[in-house]
Amino acid sequence: MCSTMRALVPLLSLFLLGGQAQHGSDWTYSEGALDEAHWPQHYPACGGQRQSPINLQRTKVRYNPALKGLKLTGYETQEGEFPMVNNGHTVQISLPSTMRMTAADGTVYIAQQMHFHWGGASSKIRGSEHTVDGIRHVIEIHVVHYNSKYKSYETAQDAPDGLAVLAAFVEVKDYPENTYYSSFISHLANIKYPGQTTTLTGLDIRDMLPKNLQHYYSYDGSLTTPPCTENVHWFVLADFVKLSRTQVWKLENSLLDHHNKTIQNDYRRTQPLNHRVVESNFPNQGKGHLASREKTKSKSKAHVNTPPLGSRQPRSLSSNTVKTHKDNVLGTRRAF
Ligand SMILES: [Zn+2]
Repeated sequence: MCSTMRALVPLLSLFLLGGQAQHGSDWTYSEGALDEAHWPQHYPACGGQRQSPINLQRTKVRYNPALKGLKLTGYETQEGEFPMVNNGHTVQISLPSTMRMTAADGTVYIAQQMHFHWGGASSKIRGSEHTVDGIRHVIEIHVVHYNSKYKSYETAQDAPDGLAVLAAFVEVKDYPENTYYSSFISHLANIKYPGQTTTLTGLDIRDMLPKNLQHYYSYDGSLTTPPCTENVHWFVLADFVKLSRTQVWKLENSLLDHHNKTIQNDYRRTQPLNHRVVESNFPNQGKGHLASREKTKSKSKAHVNTPPLGSRQPRSLSSNTVKTHKDNVLGTRRAF
């Protein structure tokens, strides 16, 4: 390499990095030079030991009967106008700071935003980030909060005890329309293109969450997108939200990303648990005799009516399958 070239290369790199910074970031899930396998090169925390999402292996979850339920306040009907944006990666609803979650240890967290992760590249592809016993669910809802000891989300996002996410899975069967989601779903048509914003009038997050808010899994992890900061206390609800097939289809097919491709499969692979322990405040029902029978029954039913559970296996189990499914998906940036 001649000296001129040697001088040009770093300049060119700076130019490219500058371009990335200008666009926020050009990371993806499965395409290009900055797919999720390469995140750690640009965002070192993504290669850390306490990453999210993870597989919640129920036989390894530690039941802690002393772990109290979450206390959610201000989640019920809120008057007002709430922005909902297509940020090129997901749909995100801005939440009022009157929504608060008190964790079992008494820490109060303030809600910031809510967004979704989904699959959809074919009718068989599910898109939750966390898996339960290796099973990926259809959609995962994230309600992002920050620790109230900090004055803003911006300050908290860099603090070691800064964030908490309340997560819930969506289950789809032959359910009727979930009317608590009707307004949200119908507004998706207003934000087809990235950067577009629409306004929800009135909001009831409580009704958009599962009925049972008491039972959850809890562990310490990270943001599931770059910069993958390891400061997130996770609360993953055990109960499900139920949506109709049409509602799920609309979420999976309404939004476009910056490359004019439908936003689909916007989820990260599960990460190693390493030395972490996942706790739950409810016993593992899979262990009981009755529960086992129900599990078997639901499995056989699944064979008849639905695609194989967990058709999207973690990369380590079936990298070829995953690669195929993700081939046409551009990952996208978002706040979290
Ligand atoms: Zn998320």
